[in-house]
Amino acid sequence: MSREKPRCIVIGAGIVGASCAWHLTRRGADVTVVDPEQPGQATSYGNAGCLSTSSIFPFSYPGVIRQVPGWLLDPLGPMRIRWQHFPQLLPWFWRFWRAGTRQRVNAVAAAQHRLMATVLEDYDQILQATGAGGLRESRGMILLYGSEAEYEGDRWHYDLRDRFGLAWQRLSAGELAEREPAIRLGQGVAVFDPAWQHLTSPADVTRTIAEAAFAGGAHWVNEKVRRVTDDGDGVTAILSDGRRLGGDRLVLAAGPWSNTLLGPLGARVPLTPKRGYHSMLLRPSVQLHQPVMQFSEYVMMTPMRDGLRVAGTAEFARLDAAPDYRRAKALLQHAQRFLPGLEGEAVTEWMGQRPMMPDSLPVIGPLPGHPRVLCALGHGHYGLTQGPTTGRIIADLAFGDAPHLDIEPYSAARFSGARG
Ligand SMILES: Cc1cc2nc3c(=O)[nH]c(=O)nc-3n(C[C@H](O)[C@H](O)[C@H](O)COP(=O)(O)OP(=O)(O)OC[C@H]3O[C@@H](n4cnc5c(N)ncnc54)[C@H](O)[C@@H]3O)c2cc1C
Repeated sequence: MSREKPRCIVIGAGIVGASCAWHLTRRGADVTVVDPEQPGQATSYGNAGCLSTSSIFPFSYPGVIRQVPGWLLDPLGPMRIRWQHFPQLLPWFWRFWRAGTRQRVNAVAAAQHRLMATVLEDYDQILQATGAGGLRESRGMILLYGSEAEYEGDRWHYDLRDRFGLAWQRLSAGELAEREPAIRLGQGVAVFDPAWQHLTSPADVTRTIAEAAFAGGAHWVNEKVRRVTDDGDGVTAILSDGRRLGGDRLVLAAGPWSNTLLGPLGARVPLTPKRGYHSMLLRPSVQLHQPVMQFSEYVMMTPMRDGLRVAGTAEFARLDAAPDYRRAKALLQHAQRFLPGLEGEAVTEWMGQRPMMPDSLPVIGPLPGHPRVLCALGHGHYGLTQGPTTGRIIADLAFGDAPHLDIEPYSAARFSGARG
């Protein structure tokens, strides 16, 4: 199966697919990227822009399931499940709950920590080579709690952080005022995380990486893939217009849509869309210098090239359900809690769908039973962060080389239903 110049079909031109295409092209593969949208126009467009290398903890942990009734009842709460879709989502929530044991939390955090370890150097490489370095800032992140009690409730995160050697610092009122004078903390608590970086236009970074791959020889096909087949000797992507693309490897980086293509191969993975929203304030009345996160409502405020982006919340609904932009508006109200008077000259609203696995770890590596199909999907909340690292791993796998880390924890085989 090994070839000097493998023909690789990359499905999806988000941050993950674009990074895979760039690494594969650089290594000398014959690459074709297929997407019905332009590069970086789906989930990779409107996210909070953070390279959150210290975010290693899964969303499922002991006791989390007790919160589900609240998620079903409050339509504007930080976490929402559209109850009409709940029966369909139940199998995923069952796995989510099963992933929340103490032992699994520790194993997931360790696996996420290993994957995060090279994120910044992988970004250094890709931003330098593509000329997009000006779209990155290294200023850390501030996390805000509404009260001492809320902070204490999140202590376990800091205990785990200490165990993994992840730096953090509780800020005094004076230190916070020096960093972010616009924040009104009241009786709250502020914590500084020095490791985070952020991109001031995630969409432009993604587009630039894709364009660099095209400039390096990758082919661009602006079409939807209807179906993929694997006949053992090679893979074929059948496009909506009837064209067939043949290859030696197929990289599946279709984000939350990936299961629509895995299904016919008999190998679905437990992937569900977890929606988030943003409100983008052009010329905001209040300036921030670094990303600020509001813990209780799960709101991220990121200063970007075109304004202040207020992004976040989590909503579980079917992939094709209509957006509920009340959630984008609610984000702004939440942001005003610590930034009184925050408004902008104009506000744009957006919805995106995080490709979410029940254990919060992505799926990276060969599809069980289909070694020519390489999965690069399910990055959930951290796809922007982990895109270039995933691209490097996928290029190694396509060329038959051992990746820089053991990829077993990210294998699709960890879900029994995914065995080919
Ligand atoms: C509100 C919000 C805030 C976030 N903040 C952050 C953050 O701060 N940091 C972070 O690291 N991550 C963040 N994320 C998560 C991050 O945005 C995603 O994990 C990441 O964008 C996923 O990238 P992707 O390339 O897998 O998917 P996408 O960007 O969704 O790309 C998938 C592509 O596949 C294409 N596609 C689908 N079906 C087909 C088909 N049949 N044929 C061909 N192409 C197809 C789509 O058109 C799309 O272009 C956030 C997400 C949200 C919603």
